[in-house]
Amino acid sequence: MAYDPSNIFARILRGEIPCRKVFEDEHVLAFRDINPQAPVHILVIPKGAYVSLDDFSAQASPAEIAALVRAVGEIARTQGLAESGYRILANHGADSHQEVPHFHVHVFGGRPLGRMISKA
Ligand code: AMP
Repeated sequence: MAYDPSNIFARILRGEIPCRKVFEDEHVLAFRDINPQAPVHILVIPKGAYVSLDDFSAQASPAEIAALVRAVGEIARTQGLAESGYRILANHGADSHQEVPHFHVHVFGGRPLGRMISKA
């Protein structure tokens, strides 16, 4: 799947749409989900143009991959989730219902999160 530069996270990265930013460095931007599924629900995205984890894992540089993983951990710690616990999730493709075709990691926390996935 080719990267679509008109997707909403690309527009956030270009500053065309506002976001509630919680973290930024050279390779990564993180902001609050507009429709939170938990008291803390943050999206962590690479600044590079990657459709999903499939694309990111194959094409991104080691520096980009390291930056994203380190950002997830740092954000969880600064949000106070490291002790109580949190969940990360990344959707790829149709079966996962990925909505936004720019790679993003969801970080959920702030309450007990229940079982991993439903059977539906
Ligand atoms: P996914 O289904 O994994 O592609 O998740 C996309 C996520 O992006 C959803 O949780 C949406 O609520 C979230 N989202 C969509 N538009 C925005 C936006 N403008 N700002 C923040 N989060 C958004």
